[in-house]
Amino acid sequence: MNITTLVKCLAVCGILFALSFATAPTPSYHEGFQTVDSDTAIRLLTEGNSRFVAGESIHPHEAFSWRANLENEQHPWAVLLTCSDSRVPPELIFDQGFGDLFVIRVAGNIVDTDVIASIEYAVDYLDTQLVVVMGHTHCGAVTAAVDSEKHASHDPVEITSLVHRIQPAVNFVEGEDRNETIKRSVVNNVALSVKRLKEVADLQRALEQRDVKIVGSMYDMHTGIVTFDENQ
Ligand SMILES: [Zn+2]
Repeated sequence: MNITTLVKCLAVCGILFALSFATAPTPSYHEGFQTVDSDTAIRLLTEGNSRFVAGESIHPHEAFSWRANLENEQHPWAVLLTCSDSRVPPELIFDQGFGDLFVIRVAGNIVDTDVIASIEYAVDYLDTQLVVVMGHTHCGAVTAAVDSEKHASHDPVEITSLVHRIQPAVNFVEGEDRNETIKRSVVNNVALSVKRLKEVADLQRALEQRDVKIVGSMYDMHTGIVTFDENQ
């Protein structure tokens, strides 16, 4: 082989090599997906919250290509039941993006039939392994339950119903300083929601037969830090 033939051969090989990359299929979201176990999910949430607290959020999974991969499927790796409060946005607090969290927000992060159904959907159909109930400091819904005797007669029946769901969490700590009562009631209210979820037959099965976990947590509005309580 003379030098001219060798140069031509290398040029052709180079073009073929480049073409092989240009035509290689892009891996789909599903091909790259692996079930995230509950311990890993807690670690990912903790790491994301640490970035948020440090002011180093990376805002992952927002690009057009990522969202395009999600058009026909989703595999969220954590369910978040938290308050509707505008100061408690889960994706920002945990520095997560599209498709990561299955979020249910309702004032006072209470548990009712529709909330249970939404969580069951994520656990049973989307194979999400971690369910987190997240309360927060200065919760207006819990404060309303603490002050319910002042407002009960003026509130619409639906608000009264919601406050009644929180009331058992307040009853534990009545008679103490008001601010302390609110703080402790917020913690009790998370524990109450965790307990109610663990009593749901379908979720009980998931806890016993699979790696599913239901845990409580608390978001401190001042520091931005979320603490988990896996013993609830
Ligand atoms: Zn709240």
